Amino acid sequence: MYLPEQACRLCRRLVAGNLCPACRSNDLTRSWKGILVVFDTSSEMAKEAGLSSPGKYAVKVR
Ligand SMILES: [Zn+2]
Repeated sequence: MYLPEQACRLCRRLVAGNLCPACRSNDLTRSWKGILVVFDTSSEMAKEAGLSSPGKYAVKVR
């Protein structure tokens, strides 16, 4: 399985390139832990984490 190396500090989305596709930020970090996969943004899990679009997110970002 392919794992992105970096996570966006603003929205915690895991990013494959050097720019977050969601918020256009290049404030990325390699210091992240855990993967949260969101399929359904209306789920309780996504709401609690404050995630508004499907995708892969880091559980913790430093
Ligand atoms: Zn972002």
